[in-house]
Amino acid sequence: MSVNQHAVDRATAARGLLEAAFPGRVTTIDAWSEYESERDRPWSQTCWIPAAAYVQPSNAQEVAEALAIIQRTGSKFALRTTGHTPNPGFSSVDESGVVIDLRRLNSISLDGDGVLHAGAGSTWGQIYSFLEDKQLSATGGRDRAVGVTGFLLGAFPNLHGTGADGVKNFEVVLADSTIVNANAGSNPDLYCVLKGGGSNFGIVTQFDIATYPLLKVQYAINLYNPSDYLNIINATVQVQQTMETDPKIGLFTNFHAGFVAVGLLYADWPDEKPKVFEPFSNLTSLMTAVAPTTNGTLLSLAKAMSHLLDPQKRTISSVTTKVSVDLYSEVHKAYLNVVNGLPAGFDFHYTIQPVTSAGVQAGEDRGGNTMGLEKVPQCSEWPKDGDDAAAQHAVNTMARNVQSLAKERGLQLGYVSMTFANASQDVLRGYGVENIKKMQATAAEYDHDGVFQKLQNDGFLLRVVHYAVLADYSTKDAGHGQATSSNGAESSSAVCAS
Ligand SMILES: Cc1cc2nc3c(=O)[nH]c(=O)nc-3n(C[C@H](O)[C@H](O)[C@H](O)COP(=O)(O)OP(=O)(O)OC[C@H]3O[C@@H](n4cnc5c(N)ncnc54)[C@H](O)[C@@H]3O)c2cc1C
Repeated sequence: MSVNQHAVDRATAARGLLEAAFPGRVTTIDAWSEYESERDRPWSQTCWIPAAAYVQPSNAQEVAEALAIIQRTGSKFALRTTGHTPNPGFSSVDESGVVIDLRRLNSISLDGDGVLHAGAGSTWGQIYSFLEDKQLSATGGRDRAVGVTGFLLGAFPNLHGTGADGVKNFEVVLADSTIVNANAGSNPDLYCVLKGGGSNFGIVTQFDIATYPLLKVQYAINLYNPSDYLNIINATVQVQQTMETDPKIGLFTNFHAGFVAVGLLYADWPDEKPKVFEPFSNLTSLMTAVAPTTNGTLLSLAKAMSHLLDPQKRTISSVTTKVSVDLYSEVHKAYLNVVNGLPAGFDFHYTIQPVTSAGVQAGEDRGGNTMGLEKVPQCSEWPKDGDDAAAQHAVNTMARNVQSLAKERGLQLGYVSMTFANASQDVLRGYGVENIKKMQATAAEYDHDGVFQKLQNDGFLLRVVHYAVLADYSTKDAGHGQATSSNGAESSSAVCAS
């Protein structure tokens, strides 16, 4: 009997026990059309993988019961909220495992202190609608369909820190199926590492999130001719530099082969267009405004950003650098080389998404996180979309190119955004030595038997950074063919404050 067959047998045993415990809420291949729609729920077709079963618990207690069954049988498992990660095996698993689908944990309520309680299965669209009725906002994702669980960076990270920084309390099912709260006063070490630490420590069943008075948002989304890329890059950098002094500014610059989409965002309704965006107003390469200047809210921005997408295979990658016209120009030339080598039909694109020193400081002011963001203007760039090996190759080449171009200029930062990272990227390493040690210690404390490391199918898991016990950390390659971070020590500057 092969090892794989043992794994399938364990998953089959888990399936049987789950069917008994959750009648009507376990989907298996025996009900084909329901099974097909569970299998095909993820955003990227690369994650349409047939699991042994899909189970839908309704509350934390039931999540704990499902996890106990997983533990008892030794079955592999994957956690899914909306399935928006494009990394195969992260919120999907083959027939040797079970998907714990958390979409039923979607209750949303507000307490007297203005703290939002959001079930792990809720989406940002649901949360923004709920809050807007009450004239409130929270820091979240830009896309309505994205789940509350996987998010890290919202539209205005520079105003209130990252999305993770806004979480005041996590309700978590631990490996031994106990349900705990993690906040500044209770399990503070767990609280800190959950802010950016992914699925290494437990299953989050509820987020309690700080809210703010309803954020007014002025936004415009313009398309420019990509042949004008040098001026577009110049305008991008000028806006990025002003962002350092005005946290209300938000920006993304998204380069495609046929157009460049620029989002000009301002967290207020000024009477006149903010002067900061003049470098873009002066460009003659404007093709069209997909969203004219609008006084709206996070919800209307998320609606403007949302687009219906055909099912496709997608892949993604992320790199963080300091800000530089020269670097961005060289990155764009490298992009053109890659995109010109791809067959027709690929949509290969990348985005400059700035995070300012003020954004990192706002996070630190809220107790810190485990991500090791540095207090320098920085920017994540991620190419995405494509098909199979050629797409993966293109994405990896682009990421490597950006890293080495940044490294040559002393502009590379170790941080890799987990929400936009490729499975092959060493995200946790980018958080820095101190944060990794802290995460390892916390995982050992809250998950003695290593359930989340051994049985979880895949993810940005601590099990893959055990090699980094951490003697030659700064010189050793990450093990995935990526350029080495020369500043592992520096990038631990935002070590948690618990
Ligand atoms: C179209 C699109 C737009 C996006 N826009 C933004 C944006 O504006 N801002 C931003 O920050 N990100 C954005 N993202 C990235 C998004 O945040 C990540 O893809 C994120 O991983 C999605 O989380 P999810 O919970 O919805 O997805 P899932 O695929 O269900 O889960 C993602 C990861 O979280 C783990 N996980 C799921 N549930 C739990 C749980 N309860 N406890 C512990 N771990 C769990 C899974 O194992 C998986 O590794 C976008 C992605 C897409 C595809």
